[in-house]
Amino acid sequence: MNIVLVGMQWGDEGKGKVIDILSKRADYIVRYQGGNNAGHTVVVGDKEYIFHLIPSGILHPGKICCIGNGVVIDPEVLKRELADLRKNNIDFSGRFKISTLAHVIMPYHKNLDQLREAKRKNKIGTTGRGIGPCYADKINRCGIRMIDLLNPGVFKDKLKDNLKEKNEIFKKVYGHPGFSFQKIYRQYLDYGKLFSKFVCDTAVLLNKACDDKSDILLEGAQGTFLDIDFGTYPFVTSSSATSGGACIGTGISPVKIDKVVGVCKAYTTRVGEGPFPTEFAEGFGNFMRDRGNEFGATTGRPRRCGWFDAVIARQSVMLNGITELAIMKMDVLDGLDKVKICIAYKYKGRVIKEFPHDFEVLSKAVPIYKEMAGWPNQDNNPSSFKQLHPNARAYLLELQKLLGANITMVSIGSARKSTIFI
Ligand code: GDP
Repeated sequence: MNIVLVGMQWGDEGKGKVIDILSKRADYIVRYQGGNNAGHTVVVGDKEYIFHLIPSGILHPGKICCIGNGVVIDPEVLKRELADLRKNNIDFSGRFKISTLAHVIMPYHKNLDQLREAKRKNKIGTTGRGIGPCYADKINRCGIRMIDLLNPGVFKDKLKDNLKEKNEIFKKVYGHPGFSFQKIYRQYLDYGKLFSKFVCDTAVLLNKACDDKSDILLEGAQGTFLDIDFGTYPFVTSSSATSGGACIGTGISPVKIDKVVGVCKAYTTRVGEGPFPTEFAEGFGNFMRDRGNEFGATTGRPRRCGWFDAVIARQSVMLNGITELAIMKMDVLDGLDKVKICIAYKYKGRVIKEFPHDFEVLSKAVPIYKEMAGWPNQDNNPSSFKQLHPNARAYLLELQKLLGANITMVSIGSARKSTIFI
């Protein structure tokens, strides 16, 4: 069974935990888009692991973990993550693979990301890690791929061409001195040597795995509303974070995907700029942020928090073809008097049930809420749906009805054991 897992909101839904659970049943775990702007957190016992590039499935012995062609790789970050695995005695020999076709983040990408953001009047809230500029070079057909680092001649020509143009832009547009060819050339050839044993044609590997009826888990990073096409553009990431990205980013054909699992929080959060109709007012927002520990795993940035938005979640179900839902962080809503679900928006007297694309409409949309009774702290550590407080059950059933997909997992804590399977 080949499963795609996607975030249904603006990322940080808790995908890391669901990936960790589903990894147990998978033979291959694959990242298909994004870069080290993603951060999955997995808690095993009392140890917390944070992954930015390597699939968290690497924690499960024997599983093969791939970085697909759709991912962009910062080699320094990858080097550090591999060193961390070694330090934690996690044996990954023979079971970590990198696509020959994955693009590499170069030093000039990182600088450009930060310089462009600094120049913008309307900031897009980039993490400044060079991910956007690296994808831009991919589309501009001047990117450098993993395979290039293994061939000094090819790499030399590509890097020279790039620096000739980019150094001029850096000097003339940004007043930046530019980059030395020799330094980057040597440093990146070293990365090439370091990673060469992992680099392979992952599309061939994964398609063979499909032929052998192995189980593949394709893990999405970020979330649907950060998708370059369907997200709240321009406050988005530079890759296809929706389920379609899984095919493009791995070379597995759509006809080989069996199921799409959508992960969403029982409420909504977003990091950085951009419209957010159900955002809490400041005081309650701060309270909920602390309660849910809503600070980025990668950047530590505080996340904006709000009520569950069924308009965007429904859109997510449609765009991704979600058939199963994992509802995360239900425990964060424990102890509230009332909980609210946004079922539609109102704009200039009009009721809007579909996610609006016009920036002004989305920015000024007023949520229409369905208000429901809250539930007390669930100290009984419920292990089944039946053991949840009746009001919590009613809330989940309402979400299920509004989204038109089945809830198969409810998470009530960060540990593996704090999960209810339905
Ligand atoms: P991802 O990017 O979607 O994987 O999300 P993150 O890993 O950045 O954020 C999820 C955070 O929430 C992590 O710190 C998890 O340990 C934690 N978490 C996951 N599920 C739950 C849950 O059900 N309840 C609580 N309180 N925390 C959770």
